[in-house]
Amino acid sequence: MDYKYTSLILSKRDIAEVDRIYNFYTLEEGKIQAVGRGARRPNAKLAGNLEPLTQTEVYVSKRKGMGNITGAIAVNNFLALKADFLAISRVFWALSYFDKLITQQEKDMRVFELLLEYLEAMEKLSEEKKAEYKFDIVTLGFLFKLTESLGYRIQVGCCANCRRKMVAGNDNFFSAERGGALCGECAKAERRKVKNADSSIKLVKIFLKNRISSFSKLEVSEKDLRELRLIWKELIDWV
Ligand SMILES: [Zn+2]
Repeated sequence: MDYKYTSLILSKRDIAEVDRIYNFYTLEEGKIQAVGRGARRPNAKLAGNLEPLTQTEVYVSKRKGMGNITGAIAVNNFLALKADFLAISRVFWALSYFDKLITQQEKDMRVFELLLEYLEAMEKLSEEKKAEYKFDIVTLGFLFKLTESLGYRIQVGCCANCRRKMVAGNDNFFSAERGGALCGECAKAERRKVKNADSSIKLVKIFLKNRISSFSKLEVSEKDLRELRLIWKELIDWV
């Protein structure tokens, strides 16, 4: 059987003498792997269209087990992103979590759209040579959205414990175990929490409500960025 996949190439690894296994996220079946026979030969035509961080139409021939790649047409090469160390280091950092969070072969159009939107946003930042922290905001925003779309509800508008509306300026906390923001009163009983997380919790709320393409417009202080990373760390450790 032959299949055509709308794919985002995630990674590759060498096998045998001249072959490669490619790992990609597809619109049709979620995360899959296929073999590129002869992909490491110097004149291999397919290889350039199968580089990680490329959007590619991939053709796979499958009988049993892992299929063989028979064709690949690049749709978007994300050339600016690939040439930008700031961007690429963040994208691979995010993809390491993507890989851990998505373990099964399961179709999920929302996840595909998020990943594509993330790569497009990072490409745009690279083209426009934006400040380094913008790459971090877009990357963290993508990760929070991804986590939520996989079914982990993150409570941000009100306290995850007593459900009271969060009040700005008060001592607000974040607890992944409790499922989101915590008011000062409820946080007293919690051992693991991120302190004074008022403005960073607001950013998480913005991430969850808006599109990734808009995140580059956010102005975020060094302190908020630090807190966002702490909240992310708490969340992913818990997940
Ligand atoms: Zn509370």
